[in-house]
Amino acid sequence: MPKVFNTEICIIGAGPAGISAAICLAKNNIPVNLIEKNSISHDKICGGGISGKALQLLYNLDNKIIDEILLQPETKISKGIKIFSPNNKVLSVPFPKEIGANSLPPGITCKRIDFDNVLINAIDKYPCINFFRGINISKIEQGSDSMKLSSEDEKYFFKTKLVIFASGANSWLSNKLTNFNKDIKNTGIGLRGYFEGVEFPNDKGFIELHFLKELLPGYLWIFPLNNNLANVGIYQILKKIHGKKINLKKLLFELIDENKSLRPRFKNASISNNIQSFNCPLSIGKRKISGSNFLVCGDAASLVNSFSGEGIGNAIESGIIAGLQAINSIKNNDFSDSFLKEYDNKIYRNFEKDFKLNNRALKHAKNASLLNFIINSSNYNKILFNKISNLLIDYNTNRNIDKKKFSLNALTKIR
Ligand SMILES: Cc1cc2nc3c(=O)[nH]c(=O)nc-3n(C[C@H](O)[C@H](O)[C@H](O)COP(=O)(O)OP(=O)(O)OC[C@H]3O[C@@H](n4cnc5c(N)ncnc54)[C@H](O)[C@@H]3O)c2cc1C
Repeated sequence: MPKVFNTEICIIGAGPAGISAAICLAKNNIPVNLIEKNSISHDKICGGGISGKALQLLYNLDNKIIDEILLQPETKISKGIKIFSPNNKVLSVPFPKEIGANSLPPGITCKRIDFDNVLINAIDKYPCINFFRGINISKIEQGSDSMKLSSEDEKYFFKTKLVIFASGANSWLSNKLTNFNKDIKNTGIGLRGYFEGVEFPNDKGFIELHFLKELLPGYLWIFPLNNNLANVGIYQILKKIHGKKINLKKLLFELIDENKSLRPRFKNASISNNIQSFNCPLSIGKRKISGSNFLVCGDAASLVNSFSGEGIGNAIESGIIAGLQAINSIKNNDFSDSFLKEYDNKIYRNFEKDFKLNNRALKHAKNASLLNFIINSSNYNKILFNKISNLLIDYNTNRNIDKKKFSLNALTKIR
């Protein structure tokens, strides 16, 4: 006999977006079914760079989460960022030691599996969250005032007034509902591996972005971790490599072996896992992210920074906004297309400025001479250095988050 579960809210996907939405609802005593297809944790393909903004948002959701992440053996607090120009000059921007009223780290690097496990463990204390693991939702039926979800094996059925899709980059179910087509213009690709023994000659603790001429507008990253490990990878927009038979994995090893500044740093390094790649749905413009009885958040809503490939902070923020919208729908008993449209407005009000900035930066990053000029000049020109530093620090810590129209204080207000 199939099992049938009824709740007002169902969330598909227990990544940063889904967990944030679930905790936001649980803190308001709203029961929620959270459904995740993986029965055990797996190491998501990711750089594991967690921005100050993401940390601030998580702290506001549940202040114990950050302590737990910092306890993970490989987690490292970021001291700053180093940006390497195509002609191999470096701009080094230190981060402040702490950010915000709660003295949080300005950013961290960690193993993504540890990060996801901490988030999943954090939901244990909320009895309102009913967590279903190992259930792959593969079918959705829209009723007159509800949605019916069924698992691939047809053993589980969920009836709900509102589905929050937090199902990541390959969320074909929500893409279908919103008539969204993934294509080479709105998709990025990332590839990463964990390396042991990479050398950090000066300040270990700085995250590094290498804008190598072979990769523009993409880059190679080196993110240091504890225990002599580093997460190393390439971020690229799909448009750049499409149809060119570029093998990114081969390119990564060629760059490490042949680039004169990278080669000495990898001479004693060994790869400690498989190199794997995954796609990033980029925030290049507005798209539909809600409809009758559903909301879409995180990667499923194409909220990844097109310039940097970062998506965790936006996944958490959009998950919280989706949770708040769900609370509003319950209060008003309105799950209609027109009522939920307010969610799209909130998301784009919050992110539109960032998206424009990222897309402009992506455009400039195609031009090696311009990048050389900006990075080189910043080292001599104090005004330019301050401008870039503020941008990078702001970017990483998002100090302005409190000033946004949607404020995190909203969480406290409705509690
Ligand atoms: C190589 C690479 C490097 C990256 N590096 C960084 C970085 O350093 N910093 C950063 O901020 N961002 C980075 N990103 C982006 C970041 O990984 C994502 O933006 C982030 O994970 C999005 O969170 P999410 O919750 O939306 O989706 P996800 O984390 O993908 O979670 C979605 C969840 O939904 C589940 N799911 C999917 N379909 C179903 C279904 N049908 N039924 C049930 N469950 C389902 C999945 O199993 C998954 O657990 C990187 C991405 C890539 C590819």
